[in-house]
Parts: sequence; structure tokens; C-alpha cells
Amino acid sequence: MSAKITFFPVANGDMTLISLNDNDDTNILIDVNIRAAADNPDDDTCDVAAELRKRLKTDSSGRPYVDVFVLSHPDKDHCTGLCNHFYLGKLEDYVDEPPEGEEKKIIMREIWSSPMVSRRASKNHTLTDDAKAFNSEARRRVKLYRENNGININDGDRILIIGEDEDQKSEGLEGILIKQGETFDTINGKRSTAAWMRVLGPFPLQDEETETTLRKNHSSVIIQYHIAADDSNPDACIFLTGGDAEVAIWKKLWENHKTTTDNLKYDLLLAPHHCSWHVLSSDSRSKCDDPKVDADAKNALSQANEGAFIVSSSKAIKDDETDPPCHAAKEEYLTITSNFECTGEYPNEKSHEPLEFLIAADGPQPPGKKKATPKVAAIAVAREPLSHG
Ligand SMILES: [Zn+2]
Repeated sequence: MSAKITFFPVANGDMTLISLNDNDDTNILIDVNIRAAADNPDDDTCDVAAELRKRLKTDSSGRPYVDVFVLSHPDKDHCTGLCNHFYLGKLEDYVDEPPEGEEKKIIMREIWSSPMVSRRASKNHTLTDDAKAFNSEARRRVKLYRENNGININDGDRILIIGEDEDQKSEGLEGILIKQGETFDTINGKRSTAAWMRVLGPFPLQDEETETTLRKNHSSVIIQYHIAADDSNPDACIFLTGGDAEVAIWKKLWENHKTTTDNLKYDLLLAPHHCSWHVLSSDSRSKCDDPKVDADAKNALSQANEGAFIVSSSKAIKDDETDPPCHAAKEEYLTITSNFECTGEYPNEKSHEPLEFLIAADGPQPPGKKKATPKVAAIAVAREPLSHG
């Protein structure tokens, strides 16, 4: 098995699966957006739940599972379908025979959750039932961790807290807390040799004014995943993903990392907020005559390794005033790398399939495309006519 990163076509929303090349074939799912149309067999929207299930393993009781489910932030387009397709609650209560017409629910052996992100989102708008259900599942797991003093926590009960919570609420949770700026390599209770992660966001609690800004900028879990192709090629793909985090957050990250730019490096970037203009600029495109790109925010998102790819998880990107996805934002990303893909255009605008990148020793490989031929070969071809001349 090769390591892979799969972007499911979920219109303007996120649903990304990282499959590691280790003995456990570890799967990390970031966000879900399984809309009713995708579940309807009479609708030709890509059945992303079926596409996901195809890629998952089942345990000894035949139950499908992901090793980790990460919620970037609790907005609708990042957690829709959670209750319909995933198992929430104590594993002892799992029903092996699902009701007729339904499939077995997917177990989340571990979840990575950010109470700080959730607090900011719920101050900004009402959470959906799926988001509320995720929060109560996170609370159940934290409660169990506290009650058991972190001992004997099993599959289906594990949780990592991403980013410190407010007012010492993370106290006693040090064993499962990963603060902003920290790195870790524990996945579902085991040290991994196939991946390690750096947490770049969310920011911890700030002063009132900055808090308001972070809330408006869609505070999200931001993680730089370092993924191995195999034992001899660790860090073959650095994948940077940050939910819907917008301009103020990337600006602040640039301030923190302009002298440690490796922390922002990537071979594959999920364009934040479905290629929204507001990720790169504080100027409104409709209200401002000459909207300017914020240099710091763009710098934070420009730390691309050679041959890097940028993916927009969105509808097809049209050259009109739609936002997101925004055509002008795509143009900006194209100045960073010419390798740009959009889930709403793969394989074409009418019918959609998951966009799957294979992680090779020399980096991510998109489906059906070879990387640009190395320059040496180009010179050899160019010289050929001379020898006949
Ligand atoms: Zn979103």
C-alpha cells in the first residue's frame, strides 16, 4: 500500500482522507460533508460516503472505522453527515445489525477536537445538530479521560485536544493536549513512524479585540502533516491544511514564523476556505475598487516546496464574481505554483470523482498526471535537430 491523500468532491466544503503507509494502514479523516444529495441513489451527485467506505478497513467485528477523525471547525460544510454515517457514544452500545436500508456506522477510534475553535464558532452562529453531536462526543471522551486518569482508554474513546482551551479549562488534560506550535507523532494511542504533525492553529485565547477578529476569520485547526512514502522516505509529502482560516489568521502566522518558514512549508496545500478571496485579502471585492492582497497572509501560504500542489475543495472555479471559490484567489495561488487542482473540476465539471494523490518518494503525484519532465531531458530533445543539421 502507498500513502495517499484523497480529496472527496463535496462542493464548497471539506472532506479529506490521509491514508498512511504503515502496518496498520492508518486512516486520518479530516472533516466530512456528506450532503443528502450524495446519499440519494436517484441523484447523480458523487456518493462520497460510499467512496469513503471503500477506502476504510473493518475491525474483527466487521465494523468500519477511521483511526482518527479531525474536525477543523464546526461549520456545516465540515461536519454534515456526521450523525448519519458515524458512530457516536460508548462502543459497548454499537448495534451490529443496522436498521434495514442503513449501513453500519463508522467508528472514530480517536478524535482530534479543538474546544477553543468550537467556542469561537458558537459565539458567532448557531451550531448545526451534527456540530453539537460532535461536541457532546468530545465532552464524553474528555470526561472519561478525567475519570480514568488517562488509563485504559480504548478505541472509540480516545481524544486529543488541539490548542489550549480558555481559562485553565485544559488543566488535567496535559496528556492529551497539543498546544499551538507543538509537534506530535502519536496517532490513536501509538507512536507513528509514518507521519508526524505540527499544530499551527488555533491561536489560544487573545484579548477581546483579537478574539473578535479570530472569530470573524473562521478560527480553525491548522496542521502541517509530515507524511512518509515508506521507511526510507519520511517527510515525502508535507500537507498543510487549515479549514476555513482567513486572512487575519495567516497574517498572524506569518508574523510568528517569518524566520522559521519551514514550519509553513508544504508539498500539498488545501487552499483555505474553498479558495475564498478573504483568505488572501482584507479588502472586499464588491465594496473596494482596487482590492489588495495582504502580503503577509500570502507569504504564509507561499512556502511551497518545488513542484508543490494546491487543491481547492470547492465547486468549479468560474471567471465571475462568485466567492468562494474566487477566480482572483486562484490566480494568486497560480503565482505560487502552476500545479492547481479543484475537486469541482475533477475529472470534469459535470461528473466528479475523488481526487487522489499518491505519495511517492519524491512527493505527491496527482491521478493521471506525471510531474514535469526534468530539464536535462528537455535539453537533450532540443539538441537533437542540431545533430541532423
Ligand atoms: Zn468551509
